[in-house]
Amino acid sequence: MEISKLLRPHLLDIKPYSSARDEFEGEARVYLDANENAFGSALEDRWRRYPDPNQKALKRRIGEVKGVPAGNIFLGNGSDEAIDLLIRAFCNPGKDRIIITPPTFGMYEVSAHVNDVGVISVPLIAEDNYSLDLEGIMEAIEPGVKIIFLCSPNNPTGNQLDPEAIITILEKFQGVVVVDEAYIDFSSKPSLLSRLDEFWNLVVLQTFSKAWGLAAMRLGMAFGGKEIIEVLRHIKTPYNISGITQELAIQALDNHEKIVFFVNEIVAQREWLSNELNKLDIVKKVYPSDANFLFVMVEKGHEVYEKLLEKGVVVRDRSQAPHCVDCMRITVGAHEENMILLDSLREMGE
Ligand SMILES: *Cc1c(COP(=O)(O)O)cnc(C)c1O
Repeated sequence: MEISKLLRPHLLDIKPYSSARDEFEGEARVYLDANENAFGSALEDRWRRYPDPNQKALKRRIGEVKGVPAGNIFLGNGSDEAIDLLIRAFCNPGKDRIIITPPTFGMYEVSAHVNDVGVISVPLIAEDNYSLDLEGIMEAIEPGVKIIFLCSPNNPTGNQLDPEAIITILEKFQGVVVVDEAYIDFSSKPSLLSRLDEFWNLVVLQTFSKAWGLAAMRLGMAFGGKEIIEVLRHIKTPYNISGITQELAIQALDNHEKIVFFVNEIVAQREWLSNELNKLDIVKKVYPSDANFLFVMVEKGHEVYEKLLEKGVVVRDRSQAPHCVDCMRITVGAHEENMILLDSLREMGE
């Protein structure tokens, strides 16, 4: 399958904006090409210049850590930007559609709606710990469906989706399959990143917002075949990743051993918290989690949420969302935070 048959036709010969930093690369005596301030900066002098629009140094470093060539990496202002650009690249407004598998991350649907792109929902199977409805997805595929968004481990249910089912979709679907792995660092099962070469239509999303502890930085990664990545590069805004982000992200990557420590702590707390929650009478079910949060079904979900708020404990109320009756999503906190949560829930049960 050629990517050109999938792309929105007007993008085939679109001319990307050519920035000053694109047109001249290398060393020069004076740079008078980008209307920067020649005298200084309101902050440090090094922030005077426009950043590298292609984020070469950062992509090289990410490539080393992730084992992926720089040409297969797109960087966005959060994963949100990659999600939006994928929809804009492939889906004709008012005509094409995406498939999502609720309950799942809300941005896929929001981005589709913003772009006037239709959404087909194939719910996860709640009775089977929110596993993929492979048959349902196959039946929902029809002309005009351009992208299938799968979130694995899934937000808000916490489970990693069956890799064999994802592979089947990748093989049978002649469109783009986006696997959002925002929480993959917390899972004991492997990422699909190692299988990038096998599937022309696979895009894997990861982020600096969760395990790396850098949500404020707004840096998301999309890994995919060179053709798809090139399309995203052509339609992004020229300087979508700030120079400050590029520099700090490189420093963060130099600390990547720290992440292992965080992940081990979080996973240990997750297992402990899951056990403790299970002992409470108001908790009906704690779903198995491969992420840094737990999906929990309680007696009278919305009431429990409100009572927790009164005690100063904020969790994510999903009790009114379809397929999530009486459920909430609870981020695994530090030990003291988890204790406060548990004490608050215990007091309610009395
Ligand atoms: C948190 C999260 C992200 C991260 O989004 P950013 O824009 O990179 O912060 C992506 N996907 C899912 C499913 C998430 O829960």
